[in-house]
Amino acid sequence: MKPNGTSSNTPPSDGNRHANGVHRDGIHRDGQGYNGHDVDHLLADEIGDVHGAAALDTPMRPDAFDLDDDTKIDLIEEHFREIMNVLGLDLTDDSLKGSPRRVAKMYVNEIFKGLNPDNKPVATLFDNKFQYNEMLVEKDINVQSYCEHHFVPILGKAHVAYISSGKVIGLSKLNRIVEYYSKRPQVQERLTMQIADELKRVLQTDDVAVIIDAKHLCVSTRGVQDLNSTTITASYSGKFEDEATRQELLRYIG
Ligand SMILES: [Zn+2]
Repeated sequence: MKPNGTSSNTPPSDGNRHANGVHRDGIHRDGQGYNGHDVDHLLADEIGDVHGAAALDTPMRPDAFDLDDDTKIDLIEEHFREIMNVLGLDLTDDSLKGSPRRVAKMYVNEIFKGLNPDNKPVATLFDNKFQYNEMLVEKDINVQSYCEHHFVPILGKAHVAYISSGKVIGLSKLNRIVEYYSKRPQVQERLTMQIADELKRVLQTDDVAVIIDAKHLCVSTRGVQDLNSTTITASYSGKFEDEATRQELLRYIG
């Protein structure tokens, strides 16, 4: 298809194939209440820099999973090829010709696979048979997420902690939960809260804390180009709202 310019309302030239709404402009905009047709680009840039979480749930359309993964890969490949075309890249070049498909597969199967609830880790609970009633801290969990404003990586560490209400969870499941919510277009605040919420739900307790310390490549490689700054977000609930408990956690993660 031909590039559509900036209008979000131009119907795609191969309309039949896309009649199911996959071409609709970003849900993010709809959710923010500023509509596609006359977006002030300066405002859009500023919103990109605020990095505030609009809501706990990742904004998804109800028809998000009407298309299967193979169809999504085919469509993203087609559109990414068009982006490269618009940039003037020669898609017949040996080094470039496979890129649209590579990027499409990476989006669907790897870096955004956490959008699909089918990929959510199933957490098995065990009885806390050792009667260990102190906090459990899993620290330095790898975070590899993606800024939803710029679609570049957010890289860092998550520290999660909970106090058992009688049930415990396999340690690797803590990593899996962090990974699942990371593999989405994200803002760090929402990522932090989504992980905390899932831990509370799975562990059946409010006594949960999540801290994320991450570098945003949209800050280090573009815009202000600050190579050193990191962003820290935290969610404390239940007993972790108590100052002494919080201080104990902070000592452990040093
Ligand atoms: Zn960003």
